[in-house]
Amino acid sequence: MSEILLNYINGAWQRADASYQSVRNPATGTILAEVPLTPAQVVAQAVECAHAAFLEWRLVPATERIQYLFRLKFLLEDALDDLARTITNECGKTYAESIGELRRGIENVETACGIPVLMQGYNNEDVARGIDEHMIRQPLGVVAAITPFNFPAMIPLWFLPYAIATGNTFILKPSERVPMTSAKLFALIDRLNLPKGVLQLVNGGKETVDALLDHPLVRAISFVGSTPVAKYIYSRAAANGKRAQCQGGAKNPVVIMPDADMEMTTRIVADSAFGCAGQRCLASSVAITVGEARHIFTESIADAALSRVVGYGLDDGVQMGPVISAESKARIEAIIARGELEGAQTLVDGRGKTVHGYEDGYWVYPTVLDNVPPESQVAQTEIFGPVLSLMHARDLDEAIRLVNARSYGNMACIFTASGAAARQFRAQASAGNIGINVGVAAPMAFYPFSGWNESFFGDLHGQGKHAVEFYTQTKVVVERWYSSWTRQF
Ligand code: NAD
Repeated sequence: MSEILLNYINGAWQRADASYQSVRNPATGTILAEVPLTPAQVVAQAVECAHAAFLEWRLVPATERIQYLFRLKFLLEDALDDLARTITNECGKTYAESIGELRRGIENVETACGIPVLMQGYNNEDVARGIDEHMIRQPLGVVAAITPFNFPAMIPLWFLPYAIATGNTFILKPSERVPMTSAKLFALIDRLNLPKGVLQLVNGGKETVDALLDHPLVRAISFVGSTPVAKYIYSRAAANGKRAQCQGGAKNPVVIMPDADMEMTTRIVADSAFGCAGQRCLASSVAITVGEARHIFTESIADAALSRVVGYGLDDGVQMGPVISAESKARIEAIIARGELEGAQTLVDGRGKTVHGYEDGYWVYPTVLDNVPPESQVAQTEIFGPVLSLMHARDLDEAIRLVNARSYGNMACIFTASGAAARQFRAQASAGNIGINVGVAAPMAFYPFSGWNESFFGDLHGQGKHAVEFYTQTKVVVERWYSSWTRQF
């Protein structure tokens, strides 16, 4: 019997009276658990508990609120191996990749422990004679995050620590495809002895999300996922008067200049394109060579794709796991076929392959498409699989035009030995996260995760100071105190 997953509401684990969906291990196809698709009335209960908790939690000094986060950091460190195995089993990435995402998640818990400073306002004495003015930050109330399948631990931790450190109460709606990591995370949270209702976990799908978007007591929504859903969430949240920060999909270009260190560049681009089976919103998916870089890079990236070891992420030596589902595998293979029809040549073909002993897994091996026409659909579509498209430009100006011909803007990278080329690229590339000789330009927790264009809807991003601003509202106070002393002025 597979595990029945529970919601965590009002400080207790609750079984939902709901329909259930199976969670599968993408490397084996076996069912691991059943996740509830929580209905609207249960969401409403969670929101009401969160609101009641908020009225007390906002009075707890920030210095006390962060003590729970210090404890959470150490509980996460102790549970690292167990959490990483859970991520690999439900999401498919390798054990090392799971540890990597946990480290980036924990970094956000650490950063949010700085809230007493990060949340400070500012002030002026004597803006007019005897009058002072100051700005303070106050929490919003109940806030919620809706997260995707590809980083089951890290992405919830982009939001949760900042939300509660700033004095809000928080509801997580994780991806229904990878809910087991959140269950483990909340088992740790249960040991923190937080006041009931400060942190809650509500599993589910669209109905659950819509109930959060429509509930008047939910003040802010953080979303990470695909662009069509990001747009939907952004507009529905805004129509209901909520703040929203919605991070969407991506199609990240990398430019390879002829003066780049080709060995290092190939290794980094291969890790970026094929790591996590290409299911990273910061995966490189289009490589644009400039001039002479074309021949050497094309050959070396094809070799790197062919030599990547694909398998079950808990097995030794595996460098790349499966994609998330059978539907995803079929979709990726169909996009590759469409690319061929549009004129691309398949240099390395990852379709129709399997892994010995794991024949029921959802395998797509690394794939390299050459001469992808810039105007083709395959050049514009987010594939979200281990597929790298190659394009070739005569010079940097042409390469930057190709970079900026995309509707997304999550990340753009350049590989070069020239500071001047790097500087031009940094200034002109239309993306919010830039990598210079870096293939996955993932901002540290104390920088905003700065997607642009169709990769982000909103103005304040996740992480760092942006998160603090997103989760607080400013209050400006102008004050005058009469006394014999002030009257002298
Ligand atoms: P998704 O959009 O299918 O789902 C994300 C979340 O939205 C899930 O919790 C899901 O339950 C919910 N959801 C899905 N459809 C919905 C609907 N119609 N109405 C309401 N809620 C709905 O995304 P995914 O497949 O889980 O994740 C992959 C996508 O996420 C990719 O596009 C990837 O680029 C993107 N992503 C972006 C970032 C970023 O920082 N920009 C980071 C990670 C992933």
